[in-house]
Amino acid sequence: MAGANDVWLLLAAAEGRLGAYADGLMREGRRLADALEGDLTAILLGPDIDRLEETLGKFGVNRLYHQRDDSLADYHPEIYTALLGGLVQRHQPRLFLSLAASLGSDLMPRLAAAIGAPLVMNCSNIETAAEIEFTKRVQSGRLQATFTASGGGTNLATLDPEYLPDPEDAKRDTVTQRHEVTVELATIPTRLEITSRQKADPKTVDIREAEIVVALGNGVGAKENIAAYEQFAELIGAALGGSRPVIDSGVLPHKRQIGQTGRSISARLAILCGISGSEYFTKGIDQVATKIAINSDRDAAIFKHADLGIVADVNTLIANLTAHLKNGAKRGGGA
Ligand SMILES: Cc1cc2nc3c(=O)[nH]c(=O)nc-3n(C[C@H](O)[C@H](O)[C@H](O)COP(=O)(O)OP(=O)(O)OC[C@H]3O[C@@H](n4cnc5c(N)ncnc54)[C@H](O)[C@@H]3O)c2cc1C
Repeated sequence: MAGANDVWLLLAAAEGRLGAYADGLMREGRRLADALEGDLTAILLGPDIDRLEETLGKFGVNRLYHQRDDSLADYHPEIYTALLGGLVQRHQPRLFLSLAASLGSDLMPRLAAAIGAPLVMNCSNIETAAEIEFTKRVQSGRLQATFTASGGGTNLATLDPEYLPDPEDAKRDTVTQRHEVTVELATIPTRLEITSRQKADPKTVDIREAEIVVALGNGVGAKENIAAYEQFAELIGAALGGSRPVIDSGVLPHKRQIGQTGRSISARLAILCGISGSEYFTKGIDQVATKIAINSDRDAAIFKHADLGIVADVNTLIANLTAHLKNGAKRGGGA
């Protein structure tokens, strides 16, 4: 049974994996649920969510609500608002949180309006004192404002991913309650029709949200070699990231650094090129679904983290793969 001190999280999931920053949101949710002495509930909408339960438990989620309809794989504002509004009104958690990313930024104002709940967007921190305090940066970060919402009921907030806790110290737990939601979606009135969707450009997408990542390590060698990886990444629709030495060398910007002091990626596939496997780096790839490591040293630690390990000179292998892909494209084009 849901309780009045519970914290609820809306998590984005696609193709069997959680969206970027989900780990930070769950950690923050767990901290707030502990402070409020409530439970932490996650909501997942869409198919392919079965394999995620273990991850949710690891991050301290104890209750899960999910609805599996295929049509929920793509966000529809009116359907999501009606479905979540009904759930929140029925169970009245203390806090309902989402990331200040594309889903949360569009959905949460609609949800707040639909259920008449207070909402603070882009929070940098939430604290539980006598009342819940929501802090956010205002005036381009020159000032910090703190809001409280009196009157009880559910408070809504989106959390700025930049201020979420670091990806470490996962709390081991299990999801103890699972509730299947079975709202008849066809009965929800809609006026909006989504006519097209386009994937983000891998060159500019936030690396945390990239579907495929080619990660470059020291083993890639000289700066002149980077162009070959750019070409390879373009051919397979991947974003380029790097280990710290590569970022420090200036070939990629800091926001492309993967690891504890960089970013955590949650890609469907990551190809790890000439990376030794330092713990500082591997903390950033925990949530990648499939990892392929290429290293010339068969004893490299990175192989322990990989689903597929290839012992090879990475520059030669990537050059061969690129040639193969290009030839394939030419043959395909001429057919
Ligand atoms: C406080 C702190 C925070 C840190 N945070 C981060 C972080 O966020 N992210 C991060 O990445 N690091 C971080 N580091 C640095 C980290 O400890 C490692 O030094 C770094 O990850 C090593 O990067 P690398 O694997 O690319 O390079 P190296 O350790 O130099 O490894 C290069 C690998 O390439 C292989 N290789 C060489 N030539 C070839 C070839 N021709 N073909 C195939 N393989 C080849 C080698 O066998 C080797 O395994 C941090 C360190 C500290 C102290």
